Formats: sequence, C-alpha cells, structure tokens
Amino acid sequence: MGKGIFTEKEKKIEIIEEIDVLVVGGGPAGISAAIGAARTGASVMIIETMGSFGGMWTNGMVITLAGYNNWLRPYQRCVAGVTGEWLELAEKRGGAENNRSWVLNSDPEVMKLVADEMLLQNGIKCLLHTWFSDVIIDNVDVIIDDVDNIIDSVNVKGVIIENVDGRKAIMVKVVVDCTGNGDVFARANAPFFLSPELQPMTLPFYLAEVTPSGEIPFEEELVVPFGPEPGLLKEPLLSEYTSRRRNVAIDRKKLKEASDRGELPCFGGPWFGGLREKYPWVNTTRVYGSAVNAAELTAAEIEARKNVSEIVNFYRRECKGFENSWLMRTAATIGIRETRRLDGVYTLTKDDVVSTRTFPDPIALGVWPLDVHPPQGQTGMHDMYVPLPYQIPFRALLPKTVNNLIVGGRCISTDRQAMGSVRVGATCGATGHAAGIAAALSAASGIPLQALNYAEIRKELDNQNAIVEL
Ligand SMILES: Cc1cc2nc3c(=O)[nH]c(=O)nc-3n(C[C@H](O)[C@H](O)[C@H](O)COP(=O)(O)OP(=O)(O)OC[C@H]3O[C@@H](n4cnc5c(N)ncnc54)[C@H](O)[C@@H]3O)c2cc1C
Repeated sequence: MGKGIFTEKEKKIEIIEEIDVLVVGGGPAGISAAIGAARTGASVMIIETMGSFGGMWTNGMVITLAGYNNWLRPYQRCVAGVTGEWLELAEKRGGAENNRSWVLNSDPEVMKLVADEMLLQNGIKCLLHTWFSDVIIDNVDVIIDDVDNIIDSVNVKGVIIENVDGRKAIMVKVVVDCTGNGDVFARANAPFFLSPELQPMTLPFYLAEVTPSGEIPFEEELVVPFGPEPGLLKEPLLSEYTSRRRNVAIDRKKLKEASDRGELPCFGGPWFGGLREKYPWVNTTRVYGSAVNAAELTAAEIEARKNVSEIVNFYRRECKGFENSWLMRTAATIGIRETRRLDGVYTLTKDDVVSTRTFPDPIALGVWPLDVHPPQGQTGMHDMYVPLPYQIPFRALLPKTVNNLIVGGRCISTDRQAMGSVRVGATCGATGHAAGIAAALSAASGIPLQALNYAEIRKELDNQNAIVEL
C-alpha cells in the first residue's frame, strides 16, 4: 500500500527530439522494429534502460536463441529479415551458431556489438540508459466498437523519458512498444491481461572450468527426433534433448531428490548451453513474483542470486565434472518470462496455434512449443506441446484504444498458452520487425495503424526478406 498522495508540480520540460517512429525497448523486438522502420523510410529513435541492446538475449543472458527453426522439421527456417541478419552477422564473428538445431548457441557480447552496428548503420538515433516513463496524450476520440461499446481512443503525441540529463520529452508520430512488459500501453491505459499466476523468473549464469563428461560434442548440430507430426513432448525425450549442451552430463534425478529434500532451491531443467567447451551456460533458477512490481522484482533478483550460489556449490560438491568449476558471471538482469499481455484487436490463442489457423493478415511465424513454465513448487522439466509453424496476425500487435501505438515482442496480444510460444526471441524479433514496418508506413502516410492496407505491410515485409508463410 502507498503512504498517501503527493501532487507533482506542473513543470516545463525540454523536447529533445521530434521523430517519425520511437521504439521503446531494445530487445530482439525493439532492434528489429527500429531497423525495419528505418528501412521503410522513417526517421527512428530507440531508447533502452540498460547499457547495451539485445534485451533478454544479451543482458538477460538468454544465449540459446530460439524461434528461428521449426522443431518438427528443423531444416525449416521460419524467421529471417532483420532478426535473421543479426544472427548471420553474429555467426560471421564467431558469436552464434546458425544451423538447423532447435536452439542456437550465441555469445551475448558479440550479439551486443552486432546490434550496435546494425542500429548505427541504419541511421537510428540511440539512447541507452534511458527509461520511458510516461506518454503525452494528445486528444481523446470516441469510437464505437463492433459490439456497440463506446471506447475512448487516444493518440500518443510524445513520451517522457528519464536519464542522466533529467526528465525530457520526445515528440512522435508513432510509438512501438517493445518493452516486453508493455510499459507504454499500460501508461496509455490500453487494456491488457496480467495473469495472477505468472511464469517463474530465472537468473542465468556461466560456469568456468567444467570438465565435459557427455559423449556428444557440443558443436554438433542437434535436431530433436520428434515429428513430423505435432504433439506433446514429455520425458524422457525432454531431458535427453531440451538441453543444447549434451556434453555436460548431470544427474537430474539426484538434483530433483535434493530439491525435494530442501537441500537445493526450486529449479527448472537444468538446461545447458554455450559456445565454449569448458564454460557452460546454465538456465535453472526459478523464482516467483511479478516483474511489474518493483518490490517483487527486487526480491526476485536477490533470491535468484542466492539460489545461483547454492546451486553452484551443490554442483561442485555433488556432481562429477563440476568439482573445480566456479561461477564466472550471472546475467545483468533477472530473466522475465511473463508479465502484461496486450488485450489487442485480435488475441492469438492456444487453439489458433494448435490448429495452425490461417489469418488474412499474417506478419510472422511462430514455431516454439507451448512452453509455460509451471507454478511454484515444481522442479525439473515440464511437458510442452510442439506445434507446426503457425501464423501471427497483424491485429495481435494493435491496441484497441490507442491509434498510433503498436506492440512488438513478448507482450503482443495472446492468451497465456500462446504466449508460452510467441515469447521466444526470434519470434519476438519477427513481430517487432513487422511492427516497425507498419509504424513507418503509418508515419509516412498519416493513415492510422488500424486502417493500414495489409497488402502494403506485406509488400514491405517481403522486400525486407521476412518469412510470413512457408
Ligand atoms: C530465463 C529465460 C529463458 C529463456 N529462454 C529462451 C531461449 O532459450 N531462447 C529464446 O529465444 N528465448 C528464450 N526466452 C524468452 C526471450 O528471451 C524473451 O521473451 C525475448 O527476449 C523477448 O524479447 P522482447 O524484445 O519482446 O523483450 P526483451 O528481450 O525483454 O527486451 C525488452 C527491452 O526493453 C527494455 N525496457 C523495458 N522497459 C523499458 C522502459 N520502461 N524504458 C526503456 N526500455 C525498457 C528492457 O531493458 C529490454 O532491453 C527466455 C526468457 C527467459 C527469461
């Protein structure tokens, strides 16, 4: 509970920029949105709270890039365009795998460098260490929706930011919300979903000097022996195949028993990855709370860091090959899987994904399983339904009540199950790319996002090498 209300004094603030398209958030969605918008001819600015771009893929140290390849027919690439270029350039620098595996190991430092270069080469104005804090609302129009509800629809004239220069304003034609948490649509009072039960957060880490003990070289292309039909992926295939590093052998049963006895904190997986032989990356901590509540987010970071230390000590003490290992680093921020989801013009559902429903306005393909990590108290692996590649419609990026705001990435309009799939980075990049293109088309023509001609968006997606249909 708060401790009362303080009324902030009205104050004049400097306008530092007037721009066609402002992208808020520099993760996979934001990077792809900004570059997509610039290549469509817009002047573009991107703002990001952290000191580097890449979002969860770099600062969250989620290094197993997912969503590029179809699981069931892993030779099929399903995300290209700007998000694909990022991968290709990182591969050229030795910083990413680019093969048919269901996840692709990467080096977050190379991914950051390539993101900087791509943004700058495309003439995008970048502001790091900058928080979006509020929207400046222009006018309120009254619109009537298709079931005769009266809805106030607003325009975002600009945004307020905070950084070392203080509180400033940026005036915009169109804003793209790629914050993952939907900070912009929440401040603009657009309707959204926030489940009372959220997927756990995870603080990934790197270990140093682990002695590999598995038989399969970690560089080997690894495809899941599943399909071609869609279905539920369960144990034992899950344990055998969901870790990208099968040269890191660990006794998962022993870990689970220790966790059940309270000797090890609650954990997921563990899933291992990483490009360097003796330096595996580990995705395993599992802490609960809301990442759109500052106190809970803080508590989660602190608890996860403590859990990492306990887990590493347990591995060193109990697991063969880990005796001399040490904790090299944890991610710069805890990884957030689930917070707000837009309640948009169309909400993509589990049924749409499972039935591979086709839409009149597809803008991207999703491939990842319905991967919803379980509620508190469960350790180890969780079952996942693996779909065929499915379409994501343009309308899932559009708020119902804000005319010049579009959403890309994790927080587009989906139900919880569909979000379990749509949330992986390459898919977020693909929806961000489409959001950026649409934002630029709207900024240039003055046509509201909801009234844009789909054929125009599609033409530009095709020009920019995006994959929309197989
Ligand atoms: C532990 C974990 C494991 C995962 N495993 C995988 C995996 O193996 N493979 C995979 O591809 N995906 C995985 N994911 C999912 C994936 O990493 C994310 O869902 C994806 O990166 C989301 O992309 P995004 O661009 O929508 O958001 P993000 O990557 O979250 O980027 C959002 C960006 O916006 C910035 N931002 C937020 N609020 C503001 C604000 N108010 N002002 C300015 N900037 C702001 C953030 O700092 C961040 O950089 C995992 C996620 C987690 C947490």
